[in-house]
Amino acid sequence: MNSPAIVWFRRDLRLADQPALTEAARKGPIIPVYICDDETARHRAMGGASRWWLHQSLEKLDMDLRSLGSRLIVRCGRSDEVLGALATESGAEEIHALHHYEPWWRNAEAAVARKRRLCLHHGNYLAPPGSVTTATGNPYKIYTPFWRALRERMPPPPPLPRPTNLPAPKTWPKSEAIADLKLLPLRPDWAGGLRDTWEPGEAGAHERLSAFREAVATYEARRNLPGEEGTSMLSPHLHFGEISPAQVWHAVAEAGGSTDIFLGEVGWRDYAQNVILQYPDYGTRPARDPFAHFPWRTSKEELKAWQQGRTGYPIVDAGMRQLWHTGWMHNRVRMIAASFLIKHLLIDWREGERWFWDTLVDADYGNNTVNWQWTAGSGIDSNMFVRIMAPLAQSEKFNASDYIRTWVPELADLPDGEIHDPSPAHRPAGYPDKLIDHREARERALAAWRDAKTA
Ligand code: FAD
Repeated sequence: MNSPAIVWFRRDLRLADQPALTEAARKGPIIPVYICDDETARHRAMGGASRWWLHQSLEKLDMDLRSLGSRLIVRCGRSDEVLGALATESGAEEIHALHHYEPWWRNAEAAVARKRRLCLHHGNYLAPPGSVTTATGNPYKIYTPFWRALRERMPPPPPLPRPTNLPAPKTWPKSEAIADLKLLPLRPDWAGGLRDTWEPGEAGAHERLSAFREAVATYEARRNLPGEEGTSMLSPHLHFGEISPAQVWHAVAEAGGSTDIFLGEVGWRDYAQNVILQYPDYGTRPARDPFAHFPWRTSKEELKAWQQGRTGYPIVDAGMRQLWHTGWMHNRVRMIAASFLIKHLLIDWREGERWFWDTLVDADYGNNTVNWQWTAGSGIDSNMFVRIMAPLAQSEKFNASDYIRTWVPELADLPDGEIHDPSPAHRPAGYPDKLIDHREARERALAAWRDAKTA
């Protein structure tokens, strides 16, 4: 019998369209492994909501592997050391994995490859990040031309089928129990809303995709309306790799109709990876000069009010409470809430990025940092600081009354005409006054921008 190969799972927790798994299993017995590598990711420890998701997803992956005669080995430690030890114990000569582009995973891949034969495959993006370049071979900086070039290379290759049998090694190496990774919150158990909202794992991902196939025809019309279930809610499944973008692409294309706007959003995900590949420290370093001298305010009270959904702006508060309860926030409201923190409160976007990182079930280094820098106007893309979103007008425009009623119940009895911006006479006791008036905030933000540019 051949020596086994190790399949190193990270954010690719699926069996179908998983090229590392398929290739390793084609050659002989496999040892699937997940490594809880707090050392490698110590600058970016996984947030609480992501840890909750990961626990469920690993359990599902283990069950799925067992149904095919295999199992998931779980270990803790530095990836290169754990994989080296596992290869020695098992006699494995090859390690198969999908490419990951977060700077810490690229470092870990390099460290593993120095010691062992590491075979890296593509599979988590529509096209390998770094491969979509301008005519002169340079990476794109702006989304629109990037997407145009990527779109020309589409569709992605057809997804690989789920394996029907996974050859097992003669003996299984020892494994930690998933529960021993202590990924779940204990006291307090804040995950009730997450449990009610999500079904992590590959099967849950495909259920979401099937439901969305029915709704894709109305995506363009409904995607900006926070009160409707108009978007796919696939983001955490895509982040953890429980489903591949190629699977999403082909399923949506088969559903027919106008799908370009939706596929363009999936393209943003590829774009974000291309950005962090060019700028690995995008999560900490603003890409534009004036932001090195930006006169940020540091109000702990106001940051806390934003985090808790108590800014006095109903649309912002609804979004922040949806985030806390479900681990997800509608994209339109993410933009409004992020813009509010940065431009109305003048609090550094990195504070907001960190909060989202901890509380989102889809927290993703590429998507989160690219969208925060985009909103701030500090990024390499085309957005500008001076584009200041008006939260009250946005709330009306995108018809957020029912969304506000759901997430800010103390405002539920207000009529549509009042709910976006309750007047002092109608503001219920217990609902806070606005932290700052919109016009005043706008003037203050523009003055701060002028100072930053001349500093
Ligand atoms: P759909 O509208 O159904 O889109 C399909 C898929 O496309 C999404 O699942 C996602 O993978 C991708 N996508 C959609 N919009 C974007 C976008 N703007 N940028 C990158 N990918 C996108 N998304 C994350 O996955 N993780 C994050 O940490 C994250 N942080 C964000 C922070 C801010 C401040 C903002 C404004 C946006 C952020 N987004 C993030 C992008 C976007 O809000 C979510 O991807 C989207 O709301 C997820 O819902 P959905 O799956 O229903 O999206």
